[in-house]
Amino acid sequence: MENRSKMLRPCLEQLKPYVAGKGYTEISRKYGIPPEKIDKLGSNENPYGPSPKVLQALLEITPERYPEPEELMEGLSGYTGYPENMIVIGAGMDGVMDTLTRLFLEKGDKTLIHTPTFSYYEILTTLCGASPTFVPRGRQFEIPGDVPEDIKMVFICSPNNPTGNLTSRENIKRILESTDAIVFLDEAYVEFADHNMLDLVNKHENLVVGRTMSKAFGLAGMRLGYAIAPVWIADQYRRAAPPFFGITCASVAAGVAALSDQDYMHSTVEKICSERERLRRSIGSHPSQANFLCFDTSEPSNVVAEKFLRKGIIIRDCRSFRGAGEHLVRLTVGTPDQNDRFLEAYQEICS
Ligand code: PMP
Repeated sequence: MENRSKMLRPCLEQLKPYVAGKGYTEISRKYGIPPEKIDKLGSNENPYGPSPKVLQALLEITPERYPEPEELMEGLSGYTGYPENMIVIGAGMDGVMDTLTRLFLEKGDKTLIHTPTFSYYEILTTLCGASPTFVPRGRQFEIPGDVPEDIKMVFICSPNNPTGNLTSRENIKRILESTDAIVFLDEAYVEFADHNMLDLVNKHENLVVGRTMSKAFGLAGMRLGYAIAPVWIADQYRRAAPPFFGITCASVAAGVAALSDQDYMHSTVEKICSERERLRRSIGSHPSQANFLCFDTSEPSNVVAEKFLRKGIIIRDCRSFRGAGEHLVRLTVGTPDQNDRFLEAYQEICS
């Protein structure tokens, strides 16, 4: 039916779908490798999984009941040090960003995105009918400390996916002081970094810091994210969010249990950071403050990623990140055994 496409919002024409890291099922089927022989090092997950308390809590959920977020909000308040009226939750940080962008962006608005970075910012901007302004990152993937006049919303990913670098506190402050735009600071990987910028939310009415339970807490499959926002934004968020914020009784139970066992989270973070440095020394990758490393390849990145796949190792070809070029791949830090297998394959494929 020819009319069908006329029904669609025009912004969809510019929309390229999100490209996720490859999964066990797809690679197992395509290459005939049993899933247990595959090392999935392409999606920045925590290879140690969540605290054992999470699995116990999941056995006790009541799926017939709608989720109740109170305990989760208390847990997040304890973890972040912010009152509950400055915390918002959603189905992953993805869900949080979806609601937030709908609060601020509409046709004619502009967002600022420093490339290469997490591609969902561009997708959400486009979906709202707004237009992204792309600024390429400089040396060592740093971002400029100023914001053009007409920008409504700035996305800053720190540590940045896929490059792993942290934006300095001075630079974040310069940006916040130079603009009235809403600044969304994505700290998905910040537990793996030297420092975070959470304290700045108390000082700036235009700063929202996004966080997730997917990475350090090992709950990627539970889809639970949150943000710390000034009260005026958090209030509006609650008006615009979907019923129950897109969370589930399973994600609440998992989140509460994970937050009750922060020692476990810190112990996995420690192991991952020490392995990250071992890998970095071995392959000479770019420095990283996240649970992944990126490195340049001499062959095109898709060719290199495919060679690893044939050995049952999933890494991320970064060509789908705007501005990353054709020679960048990203490796999630795995367990020591997984990293050893990666290094062995790296010797064959990349040297
Ligand atoms: N921000 C960044 C930088 C990410 O890499 C991811 C995960 N790919 C997210 C946000 C979203 O995380 P989640 O929806 O799992 O909380």
